[in-house]
Order: sequence, then C-alpha cells, then structure tokens
Amino acid sequence: MRFSGFRVIKEALTGHRGWGMLWRNPEPKPHYDIVIVGGGGHGLATAFYLAKTFKQARVAVLEKGWLGSGNIGRNTTIIRSNYLLPGNEPFYEFSMKLWENLEQETNFNSMVSQRGIINLFHTDGQRDAYRRRGNAMLLAGADARLLGQDELREIAPFLNFDNARFPIKGGLMQPRAGTARHDGVAWGYARGADMRGVDIIQNCEVTGFRIEGGKVQGVETSRGYIGAGKVGVAVAGNSSRVMAMAGMRLPIESHVLQAFVSEGLKPTIPGVITFGAGHFYVSQSDKGGLVFGGDIDGYNSYAQRGNLPVVEDVVEGGMALMPMIGRARLLRSWGGIMDMSMDGSPIIDRTGIDGLYFNGGWCYGGFKATPASGYAFAHLLATDRPHETATAYRFDRFARGHVIDEKGVGAQPNLH
Ligand SMILES: Cc1cc2nc3c(=O)[nH]c(=O)nc-3n(C[C@H](O)[C@H](O)[C@H](O)COP(=O)(O)OP(=O)(O)OC[C@H]3O[C@@H](n4cnc5c(N)ncnc54)[C@H](O)[C@@H]3O)c2cc1C
Repeated sequence: MRFSGFRVIKEALTGHRGWGMLWRNPEPKPHYDIVIVGGGGHGLATAFYLAKTFKQARVAVLEKGWLGSGNIGRNTTIIRSNYLLPGNEPFYEFSMKLWENLEQETNFNSMVSQRGIINLFHTDGQRDAYRRRGNAMLLAGADARLLGQDELREIAPFLNFDNARFPIKGGLMQPRAGTARHDGVAWGYARGADMRGVDIIQNCEVTGFRIEGGKVQGVETSRGYIGAGKVGVAVAGNSSRVMAMAGMRLPIESHVLQAFVSEGLKPTIPGVITFGAGHFYVSQSDKGGLVFGGDIDGYNSYAQRGNLPVVEDVVEGGMALMPMIGRARLLRSWGGIMDMSMDGSPIIDRTGIDGLYFNGGWCYGGFKATPASGYAFAHLLATDRPHETATAYRFDRFARGHVIDEKGVGAQPNLH
C-alpha cells in the first residue's frame, strides 16, 4: 500500500476501510542471515537500508518492548549537521542529506521540517569559535550563517538580549537543520523494512548470545533461540548491558536525559534555539507546545525517568534565555537512557567476536544521526567494510588515543 494524496481522497470517500497495518506481526523464524538487536531508530533504519540498498532479504529486528518505546520516541526531535571535527561533520551532513529525502524514500510522513537551528553566542571568544565551526561546516558542504544581534532580534524578539549576565551577541545558524516527528521516523523505517521482507519482532528480548569458536551463532531470546549469520546490536542506552552478555566491556556510561513539553501556545519560536551560556535548547512543535531540554542527570542509571534537580536546572536555563517561558505551564516530561561514550562520539564497528557488530555511543545526539547510522551500519553488516563517512567510529580509537572529542572536555561522559 502506497501513501499518496490520491489515496487519502479515495479513503475519505470510501469510509477509511482500506488502510492496512503499517507492518506485520510475524513469528520469529529459526534462522536469519542478519539479526538486528534493538528496534529503535537506528536498528530499524539499519534493517531498512539492508533490505532496500543492500538487497538483504533474510533480516529480523528483535525489540524487547514496542517500536518507539526507547529513545527514538523520547527525544526532542532536533536534526542538524553543525559539527566541527572532520570525523563527525561529513557523517552528520550525510545524515542531513538522507533526512532531506527520507519521506520520499520511505513513502511515509515523518514531518521533517527544516526550520533552522540557531546556536546563540554570548562573548567575543564564543563568536570566534562559532565562526570557525561555521567555516568547517561550509568546507564539508553543509550550510551555515553567522547572525548579528540585529538580525537575531528580528527572528527571535522574545530572547533576553539585555540580560547583563548572559548578553546575546548573535548566533550561528544552520538553515537546513530543524525537527522531525520522532516516532514517525521509527514507523516510516519499520514500514519500509517490513514491505521489503524484514521480520520486525516486538516483545522479544535478547537475553544472551550463542558464541562458538569465536563466532556468533545466534541469540537467546524471551521467545526462544534464533540463529543468525550475523548479529548487529543497536540498543542505545542498554549497550553496556547487552554487550556484557557477549563478554564485552564498552567505553560507555548510561545516564538519563529528560525532555519537557509546555501547553500549546500560538506560533512563537521559528526554529530550534540553543542557549550558549548554559545547557538549554528549545523548539516549538506543530501542536504548539514548547519542546525543551538541557543537561543529563549527573549519575549513572538505567531508569527511564529523571529527577527534580535537573528539572530545576533546565527551567532556570529557559528563564535566563527567554523569561516569557515562565508564563507557560509545563504539560509533561519524561526521561530516556543515553549511551554516553568517553569522547562524546559514536561507535559503528565490528567486535572481536566474528559475526557480532556494534552500533552505539550516540550520547544525546543520536536522533539526527538515525538515517546515516542505519545506512553506515547496514553497509558494514553487508560488506564488512566501514562506510566512508563512518571510518572514524571504530573501537580502537580509544586505544590509539585518536578520540573525536567535539566538545573538548576529555573522558568525562556526563559533560559531552
Ligand atoms: C530526552 C531526550 C532528548 C533527546 N534529544 C535529541 C535531539 O533533539 N536530537 C538528537 O539527535 N538526539 C536526541 N536524543 C538522543 C536520541 O534519541 C538517541 O541517541 C537515539 O534515539 C538512540 O538510538 P535509537 O533510536 O536506536 O535508540 P532506542 O529507541 O532507545 O532504541 C534501542 C532499542 O533497543 C531495545 N533493546 C534494549 N535492550 C534490548 C534487548 N536486550 N533485546 C531487544 N531489544 C532491546 C530498546 O527497547 C530500544 O527500543 C535525545 C534523547 C532523549 C532521551
């Protein structure tokens, strides 16, 4: 079933009886060529590109809960490619290009909205750093514009420009950045993969790996043993726990990140805005809610809920940036588990176990990476070679000391 304007009109005139399920609910088969563990955005995108681009037919995605129950359905939906370092920028720009064609490719409305992102700067030194980042983005084929205060006042007059402590001097804008409906992305990839024969198996928790002679044979699950030629793990905040079942210890810590949504307001915020003097970012959803977030919780946790001190910290950031936010009522908040790596950059690589592959360490920036991560992981699984934009995302960079520390804060995961 293809979605189209014609189809919507036809269904409207015939009582909406022709819409089918978006994906099947198959029983697990005894063996697959490739098993993906984790039905989040990255696992589903991997399955989609494996089937579509790399023509792999016998693929399954095993998800312990329901699709969208993890971070893919919990994030603040920001997509962007405004990175500085050569290891990162080409990868995220590749992702941006995939976002731009995603809805055509999956034939699904994921509400990709390129409404722009502005990173505010508050000092002359910060302006220099942002200018450097903007130039790096331009050199990598991305888009970037440095905004002065006057231009910014026209775009976002509600910002507190006259805050004596954090004066806003301007911003680095990426016009092609924006937002996408997070669970719509999971559904689009799931439907596209299912249409091409991928078995998406929900309520199927992987509880162990069967490894013989240094080679993975399959996975133990809550629905029985499933054999596999190759196994790709993409379980985000659960990375350390799942890979421990294969005897691996990862350079990753798990922390909770919270998100917040206000009551619906009239259109106020044109795109995404990030505070440069504290950790706070905000956009406005199509329903009118202000969607915002800030720092991760300070301690390690696998609980999908946050704590009150971080709520206070985030809303303080919001009040410093745009005091009018204090008049909006908070409607809901939630938490997701982040796989914080030691340098703030991800890992897409083979492991020391033959046939076992890993994708993780996305920290709190993995939503924007979903298309490129899926493509690069599918490339690795299908060809056993890293994709050209993901060659830096190897495990051995920590041993070699070639870390990709975008923020320059060192091996302190909670600061990335
Ligand atoms: C509050 C919040 C805000 C964020 N904001 C942004 C943002 O604005 N922009 C951005 O780029 N990123 C953002 N992120 C980060 C982004 O959401 C994540 O990096 C990304 O979604 C992680 O990849 P995923 O979608 O595959 O993860 P998930 O959706 O978490 O997928 C992993 C899946 O693995 C499953 N799983 C775990 N263990 C097992 C097992 N043993 N067996 C089977 N399945 C298992 C889980 O149930 C889960 O569904 C945010 C995250 C949060 C929580």
